[in-house]
Amino acid sequence: MLKTLLDRGRVVARAHSVQLAAIGAVLSTIFATDPVVLQAGWQTMPAELRALIPDRIAVWITAILFVLVIVARATPQQAVVQRLGLLAASVEPAWLKAARVPILRAIAGIVIHCSATREGQDVSAATIRSWHLAKGWADIGYHFVIRLDGTIEVGRPLARAGAHVEGHNARTIGICYVGGVGADGKPKDTRTPEQKAALVQLLRELRRRFPAATIKGHRDYSPDLNGNGTIEPQEYMKACPSFDATAEYRSL
Ligand SMILES: [Zn+2]
Repeated sequence: MLKTLLDRGRVVARAHSVQLAAIGAVLSTIFATDPVVLQAGWQTMPAELRALIPDRIAVWITAILFVLVIVARATPQQAVVQRLGLLAASVEPAWLKAARVPILRAIAGIVIHCSATREGQDVSAATIRSWHLAKGWADIGYHFVIRLDGTIEVGRPLARAGAHVEGHNARTIGICYVGGVGADGKPKDTRTPEQKAALVQLLRELRRRFPAATIKGHRDYSPDLNGNGTIEPQEYMKACPSFDATAEYRSL
């Protein structure tokens, strides 16, 4: 008895879902198409085709299209919506879009680097990309590059692991500010005020998205040679990024 009822219910539900799907398909086609185009198509329909439709239904279709055109006129047109979308896209900088793109890999850390170029020398992400491609890499190693004027350029897509910190690329994001070497060729914190501001802006955005991720400098990934739990200056494999990123961004 119960089984029969369940079976009957299932058949009814299935029939209903087919009907609903059909109605949905028709409605979405109508609403996805510009009603003005639909109305024009209806009005210019060949007479022999029109003759196949009963008068009563034809009147209804005419009336529905008329209402749809009026409604469409009162709501933002597709072209306007598209233009607004373009406007929004141009307002949102490329780096922000790149920082918000959905990714599948887990992020455990954000690693700060310098380009190891001399103070005052500006280098673009495109140039760094060409250096890295020349080394035989698939793409630029960093995900973001921060120019001297604070412009944040997009490097490797966030969805892909970078090539910037040996042994930790899979779960980290690499950010490189341009500079890091003084006029004498020695490591130096050459960050301009604009670069510092851009770093904070980018780190805040990434931190919002990956709250558990640590923020460290490249040199903090050097092996702890004496095993005392701290990576000390004499243990640094390289000076990158020429400042204490862990301390500076601890409160972010
Ligand atoms: Zn580095």
